[in-house]
Amino acid sequence: MDCMEQMESKGEHKAKYKGSPGLLSRRRHIVKKLKLNMQSLANDTLTWTARVICLVGCFTFWYNIDVIQESTNALWEILRYHWFYKLAYFETFFVVLYYTLFLGYPYVIEYFNLFNKYKLNIKDHTPIPRPLELILEVVVYVAPLATLDTFMVKKYAGVTDEDLVEVRKHWIQTERILPVDPPNVMWSVVHLIVAFIIYDFMFFVLHYALHKNRWLYDNIHSCHHNHSTGGINSRVTNKLNVVERVAIVLIANFALKVIGSHPLTRTLFIPLYVSFLVESHMGYDLPWSYNKIMPHGMMGGATAHYEHHIKGTKNFQPVFTYLDKYMLGN
Ligand SMILES: [Zn+2]
Ligand SMILES: [Zn+2]
Repeated sequence: MDCMEQMESKGEHKAKYKGSPGLLSRRRHIVKKLKLNMQSLANDTLTWTARVICLVGCFTFWYNIDVIQESTNALWEILRYHWFYKLAYFETFFVVLYYTLFLGYPYVIEYFNLFNKYKLNIKDHTPIPRPLELILEVVVYVAPLATLDTFMVKKYAGVTDEDLVEVRKHWIQTERILPVDPPNVMWSVVHLIVAFIIYDFMFFVLHYALHKNRWLYDNIHSCHHNHSTGGINSRVTNKLNVVERVAIVLIANFALKVIGSHPLTRTLFIPLYVSFLVESHMGYDLPWSYNKIMPHGMMGGATAHYEHHIKGTKNFQPVFTYLDKYMLGN
């Protein structure tokens, strides 16, 4: 076969190949599958990188525990005399401050279209709130909690009844009485884990009741599920009825108090707690998120909570998944 004949035959073959819809769709299917496999491999690599970073962080923490304890002692000496840390409203203000700062994370991701391929619902966008709307949100959040801060005498671990004699004489509380001793760092870690387990269990019970009782759902919880676009975004995190919001804060307080958490451990609980809440409402299934880092789907995260918001019939646990899995069979 000369060169011309070979070219003609190749052209015929190409035309034949192009003209066959079956072969074309098979080719498209293979390319799509290959792309998906590559994406899944890239996601796994990112998840494992995040896992390795966490493991290295844990090992570094363990290896330098004495240095960390000494630094904590020094920090506590500063904090327990600091006017802002001593304020009766510190924890309420710290939640607002951290929540406002952490919201920057989903806003930046969305504004620059950074991780659209991980978005659970591409149509859903985080609304930019108007300044007045934001002020109102802060007031509505702060008012009931600041009222509790004003009239409740908080008794932290390490503080005796004698230490509280003077403040109990007053109706209005402006300062919190803090313990003299700093926390033991290892106990703080244990307390954080146990507090999340208790909080998660108690919130699961409340959340389940809020869905199963029609009156409770209509009058309290429906507001959290009332998002018009069919998806969720980080702003839904704080879309709560005041009763539910106060109940959630009281549950978190109880979880920390019942195990005798140090005030500094409580302070550490706040950013972890707010980060978990915002991440689970972000609507992004990011490969480095906490639920991906933890093995065996131990923690729910964004995907599980997205399903909860869309279907409303599963994934009631806010942090872990064992009750949803083994009790409700989700
Ligand atoms: Zn939610
Ligand atoms: Zn719900």
